[in-house]
Amino acid sequence: MLSSLTISEAHKKMKAKEISAEELMRSCLERIDAVDTKINAVIWHDAERALQEAKKIDQKKSFDDPLAGIPFLTKDVYCEVGIPTTACSNILRNKNYVPPFESTTTKRLKARGALSIGKVNTDEFTMGGSTETSCYGVTKNPWDQTRVAGGSSGGSAAAVSADECIFSLGTDTGGSIRQPASFCSCAGLRVTYGRTSRFGAMSMASSLDTTGPLAKTVEDLAIILQAIAGKDPLDATTGDAPVPDYQAGLTKLLKGLRIGLPKEYFLPGMNKEVEAAIRESAKVFQSLGATIVDVSLPMTKYAVATYYVLCPSEVSSNMARYDGIRFGHTVEKPENLIDYYERVRSEGFGAEVKRRIMVGTFALSAGYFDAYYRKAQQVRTLICKDFNDAFTTVDLILSPVAPNPALKIGEHAGDPVAMYLEDVFTIPQAMAGIPALSLPCGFSKDNLPIGLQLAGPQWSEELLLRAGYAFERETEWHTKKPAL
Ligand code: GLN
Repeated sequence: MLSSLTISEAHKKMKAKEISAEELMRSCLERIDAVDTKINAVIWHDAERALQEAKKIDQKKSFDDPLAGIPFLTKDVYCEVGIPTTACSNILRNKNYVPPFESTTTKRLKARGALSIGKVNTDEFTMGGSTETSCYGVTKNPWDQTRVAGGSSGGSAAAVSADECIFSLGTDTGGSIRQPASFCSCAGLRVTYGRTSRFGAMSMASSLDTTGPLAKTVEDLAIILQAIAGKDPLDATTGDAPVPDYQAGLTKLLKGLRIGLPKEYFLPGMNKEVEAAIRESAKVFQSLGATIVDVSLPMTKYAVATYYVLCPSEVSSNMARYDGIRFGHTVEKPENLIDYYERVRSEGFGAEVKRRIMVGTFALSAGYFDAYYRKAQQVRTLICKDFNDAFTTVDLILSPVAPNPALKIGEHAGDPVAMYLEDVFTIPQAMAGIPALSLPCGFSKDNLPIGLQLAGPQWSEELLLRAGYAFERETEWHTKKPAL
C-alpha cells in the first residue's frame, strides 16, 4: 500500500518514476474510504480536487523537492483558501465558514508541492485532549477503537498512524501534538514558540499555540520543519533565529550528549509500563553514547494549575471574535443585540469552550486579576527558570509524554479536572516556550502505544531531531502498524 510510505520513501519512488503523485494520492484516498468509518479522523475531503492537484504535479515532472507530490491532512484549525474550516465547532460549521485566506504553514508546504487532501478532527478550537469536544464526534484510536486517539490533534495522529496520509499538521498549545502522537504511535514535534508561523491557524491561547507536524519518522519531521520554519511577516511572534539544515543535522553523533531524567516526571502512582518504557529508552540513548543525568524541575507540580488559568484567560479573549457578526453563525429574529450575541454563542459553542470563557473572564476581571492571572504569569516565569537551570547541566530532557497510554472513550466524561491532569507532562514545556519531540518507544501489554518525550532549550530542534533519529534507527517501535 503506497499510503504507508514515509515522505522520504515516496519521494525516492516518485523521483525514480516508479510511482506517480496521482497513484500516491489515490492510495491515500482509497485508504480513507476503507478505514475512516472505523476511526472518524477525516472530517472533510474532496477526492476530485486532490486528484487534480496530484495530476498537476505529475505534469510538471519536477520531483526535486522532497515534498513534491506528498499528500497531507490538516487539522481543522488551519485556514486554507476555499476549503471549509470549522475548528470542529458548530459556531463555524453552522455558518459553512470558508476562509478567504491561507495559513502560512499550509502555504509554505503547498509552495513546495505538498498536496492537501482535506481536514482532520480536533477538539473544539483545540480545547481538550481526546477529540471528545469536537462537534463531529470522537476520533477512535487505530490501535483500539474503544479508546481515544488523543487530542486535540487526535485526527492528525490517527490519520498518520492509519496511513490515510503521508503526514499531517497539528497544533500544540499544551500537548496537542505530542500526546496524540504518543497515543497513536507516530512522531510529533512541538516547535519552539515562534519557530513556525501561527498566521491563519485559529488561535486558542496565543502565547502558547504552535503549529507543527506529525509524521511516520523523525526524518520526515525534519523535511516538513525545513519547509515551514522561519520568520513570517504575517506573524510578529515568529523569531529571526536562523533555520538550520535539519536533514543534514540528523546523522551527527550523540557522543557526549547529556540527557536529564527529571525526578518529578516519575511519580509513585504512575503507570508502570510507561515508566519502564521510558527507563528502557534512557538505556538506548546511553548505548548511543549519551550520558544520563538526574535532574529536578521543582515547579512541575504548579504547571497544570497555572496553565488552566492562563490558557482560559487567552481563550476568553480569542473567542470574542465569534460573535455572529465578524465570525460565527447567525440566529433568526433576535430581540436585540445582546439577545443576538447570547443566542449565537450559547448555540454555537460546546461545554468546554464555554467553561474556559467563563474561567478566563473571571481570572481577568478587575477584582481577581492580581490573585489569578498575575500570579499565574509569575509562576510561568518560575517554570521557565526551572528549564533554564536544568539546561545548564544537560542538553536534553527525557520523560514520558503522558502518564497513561490512550484513555477509554468517555473515561473522564463529566470530570474536566481529571482530563486536565492528564496534561501534566506536556504543559511545562509549552509554558516555557521550548521545543519537544514525541516518539514511539514501546507498547503496553494490551498493545497500546507508549511515547517518549525529549525536550530541549529554545531553538534546539536540530539537536532534538538528531537524538530522535538516532533512537529511531536503534529501535523498531515506529515500524509497527495497527491492524485495521
Ligand atoms: N489538553 C490541553 C488543553 O485542553 C492542550 C490542548 C492543546 O494543546 N491544544 O488545553
